[in-house]
Amino acid sequence: MISYDRNNIFAKILRGEAPCTKVYEDEHVLAFNDINPKAPVHVLVIPKGEYVSIVDFTEKATAEAIAAFWRAVTRIADQLGVGAGFRVVSNHGPNGGQLVFHFHVHITGRR
Ligand code: AMP
Repeated sequence: MISYDRNNIFAKILRGEAPCTKVYEDEHVLAFNDINPKAPVHVLVIPKGEYVSIVDFTEKATAEAIAAFWRAVTRIADQLGVGAGFRVVSNHGPNGGQLVFHFHVHITGRR
């Protein structure tokens, strides 16, 4: 697996070194609008810990962090007004189309 690079764009957003349009934040996660939206609602949710992808996160994060992450995802979908119907996607690895190597999920939906 690719090793974690602290200069990836989402790490910079977490450190406040790059901008984002924040839609949600708590002690475990940050969520912000995708810069190149593929749907009327397109938000990225990232954990605050350093995980390369969904595989890394699932293998290494604590049970508490994993539960907090997925609870935040559904809470955010609700907050965005798409709680009744949305998609959650996570790309793992270059062959899976992953471009940014800090674990994230895409929430997409239509208001
Ligand atoms: P992927 O790694 O394939 O799941 O996709 C990464 C996603 O991050 C793409 O949908 C990009 O549009 C999005 N993205 C890249 N840079 C930024 C940024 N600075 N702010 C918000 N979204 C971004």
